[in-house]
Amino acid sequence: MELTANAKINLTLDILRKREDGYHELQMVMQAVTLADQLTVAPAKGPEGDAVADLRFLPTGNKNLAQVAAAVFRQATGLGGEVDVSIRKRVPVCAGLAGGSADAAAVLRAMNALTGAGLSLEELAEIGARAGSDVPFCVLGGTALAEGRGERLTPLPALPPCHIVICKPPFSISTPQLFGRVNVRKIVRRPDTQGVLAALKAGDLAGVARRMYNVFEDVVERRPAAEIAAIKAALIDRGALGASMSGSGPSVFGLFERSDAAQDAFSLLRESFRDVFVCRPAVPEV
Ligand code: ATP
Repeated sequence: MELTANAKINLTLDILRKREDGYHELQMVMQAVTLADQLTVAPAKGPEGDAVADLRFLPTGNKNLAQVAAAVFRQATGLGGEVDVSIRKRVPVCAGLAGGSADAAAVLRAMNALTGAGLSLEELAEIGARAGSDVPFCVLGGTALAEGRGERLTPLPALPPCHIVICKPPFSISTPQLFGRVNVRKIVRRPDTQGVLAALKAGDLAGVARRMYNVFEDVVERRPAAEIAAIKAALIDRGALGASMSGSGPSVFGLFERSDAAQDAFSLLRESFRDVFVCRPAVPEV
């Protein structure tokens, strides 16, 4: 079975409070995008399933999130045998784009179809939370408000059609370190989440774009922060309606109304960065 595993971007990322269990209570508007990995899922050739990507440094076998998802599905449903997963990786890794979670979600959808389990997407998303907190959103796709650790989802009106330029600078940011640096009481700048929700309802792309923000941007260390700011400035300079960092970074994206402006921004960024993409909002499969 062939599957497309769409990446996501965070139109907003806010941290509301630190919970008693030590986790942070998040509020994020998430958007699936057409930048995607391609997966093949087939019954395993050997006694145990394997997972192999065309990127040599990614974990294989049961350390790969694709196999974690297969195990979670078998555990939750009692259905399905071992599967081999082969991944054509196009989504940058450790980029704030949920590439691994997208692969896990694709495997859940494959196992659901291959076994005839007939779970609804909501049921599949619930199971997916056991494989990672971004997996439920990756199962549902589209546009959604994600709360809690990211697993509590409310579907939202679709982001109006647009062009999205994503640029991943060549460094990674440690997610635990970022959370460690956030002092919830000292957050000065936050996204206007309610405003984004209203703009989505009104189909107002510019209204969404100008209210986007990611609270992690304020706690990124100075050097990477300068690079992130420079990418945002380049996107805005070339006509983006708004630009923000996605997830725990370091990927930065801009929303464009016009395709030629997006191409122009792509060409400019491509002079300095290898991982630059132009994509569109991904519409959920029915
Ligand atoms: P998020 O936005 O959900 O925080 P991310 O984009 O920062 O995710 P991923 O690319 O999903 O990060 O990868 C995170 C880690 O998971 C990496 O250390 C990687 O080695 C591991 N991993 C396991 N399986 C996969 C997979 N199929 N694809 C990508 N990474 C995987």
